[in-house]
Amino acid sequence: MKRIPLSVPNVCGNEQKYVDEALRDGWISSVGSYVNKFEEKVAEYAGVQEAVAVGSGTAGLHLAYKEAGVQSGDLVVVPTLTFIASVNPIRYQGAEPYFIDCDDTLCLDPKKLETFLENECEYKEGIVIHTESGKVVRAVVVVHIFGNLANMEALCTICHKYSLPLIEDACEALGTKDSTGKMAGTFGDYGVYSFNGNKIISTGGGGIVVSNHEEHLKHIRFLSTQAKTDSWYFVHDEVGYNYRLTNISAAIGVGQLELLEGFITRKEQLYNLYRTKFEEVGLKMMDFRKDTRSNRWFFSLLWEKDYGMDRHQLMRELKEVGIETRPIWGLIHHQKPYQHCLHGDLAKSEYYIDRIVNIPCSTSLTDEEALYVIQEIIQRKG
Ligand SMILES: *Cc1c(COP(=O)(O)O)cnc(C)c1O
Repeated sequence: MKRIPLSVPNVCGNEQKYVDEALRDGWISSVGSYVNKFEEKVAEYAGVQEAVAVGSGTAGLHLAYKEAGVQSGDLVVVPTLTFIASVNPIRYQGAEPYFIDCDDTLCLDPKKLETFLENECEYKEGIVIHTESGKVVRAVVVVHIFGNLANMEALCTICHKYSLPLIEDACEALGTKDSTGKMAGTFGDYGVYSFNGNKIISTGGGGIVVSNHEEHLKHIRFLSTQAKTDSWYFVHDEVGYNYRLTNISAAIGVGQLELLEGFITRKEQLYNLYRTKFEEVGLKMMDFRKDTRSNRWFFSLLWEKDYGMDRHQLMRELKEVGIETRPIWGLIHHQKPYQHCLHGDLAKSEYYIDRIVNIPCSTSLTDEEALYVIQEIIQRKG
């Protein structure tokens, strides 16, 4: 039987060659020409001056939150509809999430953010205090869900009005850009990309941080390498981290980056194929924002409760015919460590997590395979 995975890496360029070179020359660890090259090439691609490679997207988010000033006792605004790695680093800093809903793009709803800041917080001398808890709201985290660009114009305006640092979890959105070509991850104060195995390009595991604040980005680099104030005498004036990317991983990344635009083209073809075929039978897929160029990282099928079978049975049956699908993540405020956290109205998030099925979207997926997936799904709609 054919097995069609949900999303797998597509290693089909110069990755092997570059890794062989790194191995041959002995540069296998956290220093080497591929780390520098990868940082330079990602920075160039994203249209920024500098990028700092780190061991994972999660590590990158942790350093971005820390650098944005998040500390013990603070509140950080974050969506509940996201992967948990957007939220855990808030806790690493001893702070607490405040969950805000998504809008119909699946990304943080700027209206609900503004209502929260206006009605439930006080803004005094450049500091936002959440009235009920008395905690300082220190930062806002937006996630470009499945590669869909959030409403950055509105979010940047609001964050600016309240002097709040805006961190973009762009882990899923490398290559997504607005109509002017401005890249996801470069609108806010900090942006983080991930190169985990199922992301649009992969280094095996890895991440990159970008920022509009040169000095803060340099400090992030410093923190990521054990905060060596003097690397000869091993003087450390701060608590640092071992968050660096290895040269081997970066070599894979340089190869993958050469393929990225081709991958995005393939994602668009596949998305359009699914969409056209599903539309013919009245099945709906989530849109990507109009007037943007999304990387279309993950495809979301909307499965209503009154179809021929429920969503869980659909996914089980698809698995039996070799097709891997997945429900969207469980909402974070339903997860054990976060059940008691503060949040606003989360109706849209609750609506979408009951309906979304993520369907196979690997760039190596053939049209023939996609058509098989489509056929197996359509015949279960009833
Ligand atoms: C993958 C992902 C992360 C974490 O990246 P890792 O490299 O796996 O640590 C964070 N946020 C979102 C939204 C992600 O999809």
